[in-house]
Amino acid sequence: MEKIAEDIFLLKGFPRYAINIYLIGDVLLDAGTRLARGRILRQIAGRTVTAHALTHAHPDHQGASHAVCEALGSPLWCGENDADAMETGDYSKTIPYNWNTSAQYQFWTGPPHPVARRLKEGDEVAGFQIVDAPGHSPGQVAYWRERDGLLILGDVLNGMNLITTQTGLHEPPTLFTVDPAMNRNSARKLAALNPKLVCFGHGPPWRDPDGLQRFVSGLRHD
Ligand SMILES: [Zn+2]
Repeated sequence: MEKIAEDIFLLKGFPRYAINIYLIGDVLLDAGTRLARGRILRQIAGRTVTAHALTHAHPDHQGASHAVCEALGSPLWCGENDADAMETGDYSKTIPYNWNTSAQYQFWTGPPHPVARRLKEGDEVAGFQIVDAPGHSPGQVAYWRERDGLLILGDVLNGMNLITTQTGLHEPPTLFTVDPAMNRNSARKLAALNPKLVCFGHGPPWRDPDGLQRFVSGLRHD
């Protein structure tokens, strides 16, 4: 695991930073695809994990959630507006349906799992505050730690091009985003927190606060 900041580790993956899974304090944040079970359990072996939380319930984030919760006996927490999808396996409201997502759905999606805690704005998780950040999915939430300006924002923004894996800020592809305009509003809301360090679902940690502000101020208004 790579230490990102105090109490924050990023699990190793291949390609590096393509699909990120974090350990924040004693909470495992996101679980990659269905294929990620082994890499998660190997890397967190010997550590205390008391809960597993999600940024959002998409197949590249919740794929191994059920398997990991079963293996660790830990409860699953996710944003209140993604919780029904996580529990029922009906993703029709949380992910657009197209050729790409239906392939993803088939190969990456993990089984449904009960949500023990439905996260909402202002909740506290492992020293982070939950910030609602809907758009990419209806129940996407970000994790904000004010004392050191650390923001984990799931897929509100991507820190790499998912096709070429080149580093840089992007909006998440519209193919995977339920409401792109709402997602841009969430990006503006999060940028207004003035984060110093941004951690993504996809891409390496971003340590250029001014670059983030420039990118977000250039986002389309509609
Ligand atoms: Zn993603």
